[in-house]
Amino acid sequence: MDGYQSSTGDMRQEWSRRDLLKIGIAGGLANLLPRTGADGMAVAAEAPISMATEEDHRFFKRELQSFLPDKIFDAHAHLYKKDTAWDLKGFPAEVGYAEYQSLIRDIHSQRRTAARFLPGVSVDKKERIPECNAWVSEQVAKTTDCVGAYFVKPDDDPEQVRQEVKRLKLSGFKCYHLLAPKTPTWESEIPDYLPERLVKVAHEEGWSITLHMVRSRAAADEGNQRWIERYCRLYPNMTLILAHSARGFQPSHNLEGLENLKGLDNLYFDTSANCEPIAHQAIMRIIGHKKMLYGSDFYVSHLRGRSVAAADSFLWLYEDSPVWKEKQATIKPVMIGLENLRSLKWAAWSERLSDEAVEDIFWNNAAKLFGIK
Ligand SMILES: [Zn+2]
Repeated sequence: MDGYQSSTGDMRQEWSRRDLLKIGIAGGLANLLPRTGADGMAVAAEAPISMATEEDHRFFKRELQSFLPDKIFDAHAHLYKKDTAWDLKGFPAEVGYAEYQSLIRDIHSQRRTAARFLPGVSVDKKERIPECNAWVSEQVAKTTDCVGAYFVKPDDDPEQVRQEVKRLKLSGFKCYHLLAPKTPTWESEIPDYLPERLVKVAHEEGWSITLHMVRSRAAADEGNQRWIERYCRLYPNMTLILAHSARGFQPSHNLEGLENLKGLDNLYFDTSANCEPIAHQAIMRIIGHKKMLYGSDFYVSHLRGRSVAAADSFLWLYEDSPVWKEKQATIKPVMIGLENLRSLKWAAWSERLSDEAVEDIFWNNAAKLFGIK
């Protein structure tokens, strides 16, 4: 296990945060250990910013302190440039690498975090996508252990995309259904927002693609299954990452659909924003935990509420949803990122995953896939 070196730098005496947790002194001593990167480099200190409430802190201590490994790779995190993202109340106007490192501690506490960054762009500002891609590239360049994806539009010219991604030193795509020509866009077929010509470029360059699937039944939708299988089989050098645990906010879609997506070596799943344990368990049991990558979906991680499966669909409860006042209590919702992490903990517990398997999901699988040392 990679650990935090003691301040003497003595390699023989390497204590990991988890070792300290095991002997019950994490709170005090662990915080005195130097914060080091995966490569052993110290992380630059910046003015800390936090959006966490007392409720969030208590939740972390109670639910996550003893579960989270000491190294986290966040495979789905959005960075955004000033005036190009959504109107996010209570968030900094701009979140680059430094702000992300500071804010992600609200849900990861003191854990070392590296990430795969995706541009956060509001679709009504789509003319500014090139700027946002350049911005993510700049942020990634400040790090030694992070990678970045390029936001592609369905009508982008594949050769131009290839040149741009290379020039910006990014290593994959992020596509989004809201740019598909269909209405409503959430009924789009995958090629409407991820055309095959772009998948071919990713294959030729060995890049990965984060796909937020749509259509009402997600992984259980035959059209989605057909396109995923086709892309994965025809373009084996491309990695397809199905976001939000295959968008299984309704876990029965995963239980039903994943059986048909077995045996695709280049198919991965990020666990971001999904708060339903069975959604993650379905992937663990049907596909295997080696294909799972933890993701926070920062900034979504910092909104409060959770996803809830209902009927053959799902809904989102947010802080301002009028549901938190119950007969027995008024509930104070916590950050979605915390709810997501607890759902992963429950899934790991229920599937009896070993510590090593949990560390695979939180670091090793991503490190191998993205070539992080
Ligand atoms: Zn996202």
